[in-house]
Amino acid sequence: MEFPVPDLIIINANELLTLSFGMSTEEKESEKKLGLIRDGAIAVKNGRIINIGRTDDVIKSVKIGKDTRQFDASKKVVMPGFVDPHTHLVFKGTREKEFILKQQGIPMQKILKEENTGIISTVRWTRKASFEELLEETRLHLSALVDWGTTTVEIKSGYGLNLEEEIKILKIANYLKEYTSVNVRSTLLAAHIIPPEYHMRDEKYVELIVEDIIPIIAKNELADFNDVYCEKGAFTREQSKRILQIGKKFGLKPKIHADELSDSGGAEVAAQVGAVSADHLVYTDESALKKMRDANVIAVLLPLTTFSVDGSKFADGRKMADVGLTVALGTDYNPGTSMCPSMPVVISFAVVRLKLTVEEAIIGATLNAARAIGLEKEVGSLERGKRANINILNIRHYEGIPYRIGENYVETVISNGDILKGG
Ligand SMILES: [Zn+2]
Repeated sequence: MEFPVPDLIIINANELLTLSFGMSTEEKESEKKLGLIRDGAIAVKNGRIINIGRTDDVIKSVKIGKDTRQFDASKKVVMPGFVDPHTHLVFKGTREKEFILKQQGIPMQKILKEENTGIISTVRWTRKASFEELLEETRLHLSALVDWGTTTVEIKSGYGLNLEEEIKILKIANYLKEYTSVNVRSTLLAAHIIPPEYHMRDEKYVELIVEDIIPIIAKNELADFNDVYCEKGAFTREQSKRILQIGKKFGLKPKIHADELSDSGGAEVAAQVGAVSADHLVYTDESALKKMRDANVIAVLLPLTTFSVDGSKFADGRKMADVGLTVALGTDYNPGTSMCPSMPVVISFAVVRLKLTVEEAIIGATLNAARAIGLEKEVGSLERGKRANINILNIRHYEGIPYRIGENYVETVISNGDILKGG
């Protein structure tokens, strides 16, 4: 019998979190949930996991060659690469001043009168930037995410707000999908806000989205999902529903920014149109949560946004998990409300403020996040045949993930078998 020669092998992991429930070697319920294996190992070939289990067993199943890269993970945690299912990664410029004014309690209406504030200023800078400039800036954002162990990311448009500029942004997401080792999903968010040239003519902008932007983006296969910001001052419940339903006809799966600043009815729209996910959900009531659950809509929670807006009211993650919703976590990386690229920090907030258990938060940042972007068969857990997206953390126990807030213990990052950090 011939044994395969792996490109890469990780051995002796103190705790290997497979996120594959049947795979745990342990009896404890919490450890089983994470598919925890003690003294674990993973062998990788051609970007895929070829074997995973106890170190002894994995070593016996392969032939270590002279070019096989070896990682000793004794005293370390090994887990799937993080999946960030909600980012606005492609933008030009930053808005620090606005952030500071918000913390001083100055009302948003007043802040928006200042120069270089609000989504519109980001739209202005992003429109002005060339493809190359924007790509360079986006690469920097992406490398910040990777540095914290993110190997799969969803990227939204939404700072172009016309056909040509939305195409430019989505082309950058697609460029990263093709030319980097990171797994990328792209989302059309033409319905982010009403652009200034359509002021007081919002129905006309909705027409542009449904008649021009959606069909052309779909035809050119530039997006996997279609998203809308359902909120007072952005898009109404009816407009949101129409935009998502028409996107669906063109093969773009619906997603929605729902109930972030008020009970906008977004969660109900998500259930009605059969959205893949509804995101934010800070003000959603229990009956809408149950409708989401019954329609299999995934809840994507973004606690860093709440934290940087004012930190007073967070989504009720505990209740969502208790009613049986699938709960995922993301950074919402964007220049207006959340410039934090770290999924480990999101996990800390999910445990401290959303009252998820550590295990729920880790699942939310990996497997459930993969579900929220339709990639759960490929990423989000460590199983034979799946893409080799693996983090080695310089901590002994997984409880250290939320506990060591803001410390970057992500030592090695592997995506599709390529070593993006460490080693
Ligand atoms: Zn968002």
